[in-house]
Amino acid sequence: MADDQHRFRPIRGDVLPRFAGPATFMRLPLIDDPSLVDIAIVGVPWDGGTTNRAGARHGPREIRNQSTLMRLVHHVTRTKPYDLCKVADLGDVGVNPIDLVDTLERVETFYKRIHAAGATPLSAGGDHLITLPIMRAICRDQPVGMVHFDAHSDTWDRYFGGHKYTHGTPFRRAVEEGLLDPKRTVQIGIRGSLYGERDMDFAEQTGMRVIYIEEFYKIGVDAVIAEARRVIGDGPVYISFDVDGLDPVYAPGTGTPEIGGFTTFEAQHMLRGLRGLDIVGADVVEVSPPFDMSGNTALVGATMMFEILCPMAEAVARRKGRG
Ligand code: MN
Ligand code: MN
Repeated sequence: MADDQHRFRPIRGDVLPRFAGPATFMRLPLIDDPSLVDIAIVGVPWDGGTTNRAGARHGPREIRNQSTLMRLVHHVTRTKPYDLCKVADLGDVGVNPIDLVDTLERVETFYKRIHAAGATPLSAGGDHLITLPIMRAICRDQPVGMVHFDAHSDTWDRYFGGHKYTHGTPFRRAVEEGLLDPKRTVQIGIRGSLYGERDMDFAEQTGMRVIYIEEFYKIGVDAVIAEARRVIGDGPVYISFDVDGLDPVYAPGTGTPEIGGFTTFEAQHMLRGLRGLDIVGADVVEVSPPFDMSGNTALVGATMMFEILCPMAEAVARRKGRG
């Protein structure tokens, strides 16, 4: 892939300064055809599933801007994702900002095309509802496990009576639809007040491993990684990173902040601990630029995407026999 390898690399900062040029994810080429790449980075500018403060529709653009700060080699693992895989920015899904159900279909259709082309998606939200149509597109053949970083379980049932689709319900729907294996799901960082004392019943009774933030700090980050790896095992796994899992000190620009979360460094350490897992998709969601006065939350989101891209590129290279 010599020629392609050159094509699907970020623009170097000593060729065009980082502040120059249109901002694409990681300064990668913007393309339409997913069959040209191994990993497709996609924006889903959607926040119609938000129940409180909106604004995550603006996430992909600001994450793209901050992602121009990412470099080529991981400083700890020395992973070089662009040597292992062809990666590009596939643009944004054409969501319908005034129709939730239509948007779910549009997101699913977009990701079906990526999946059919054999590319692995890494996504920037958008609110957390986007993970459901992504899973509908890529997890139909076999339910996946999930490492889920979040303050919230996102396994609520309904809102305002009968409404099934909000950013608080994607993982109940994904289990109901056979896309997500709850027994191979670990939720990390859960906290915050509940509407009712039974709110966590679905997650706990279906067998999800819920690591509340209190247990996280009691057992420590290395033990959390070991437990996540035990739960996931060898099968396919999706990584879903809601930035509100972080303490709002580190990620204030989000719609549903909860104090008392993990730090950015702890999050990076956990993502590095997922090396070797069979990662089939991932997202970073709930960056809400209108609440992100310093721009730091978008930088956090971009950095977590690079942290995920590294073990994802290793997994994709292994699946393609190049690892
Ligand atoms: Mn969430
Ligand atoms: Mn959350």
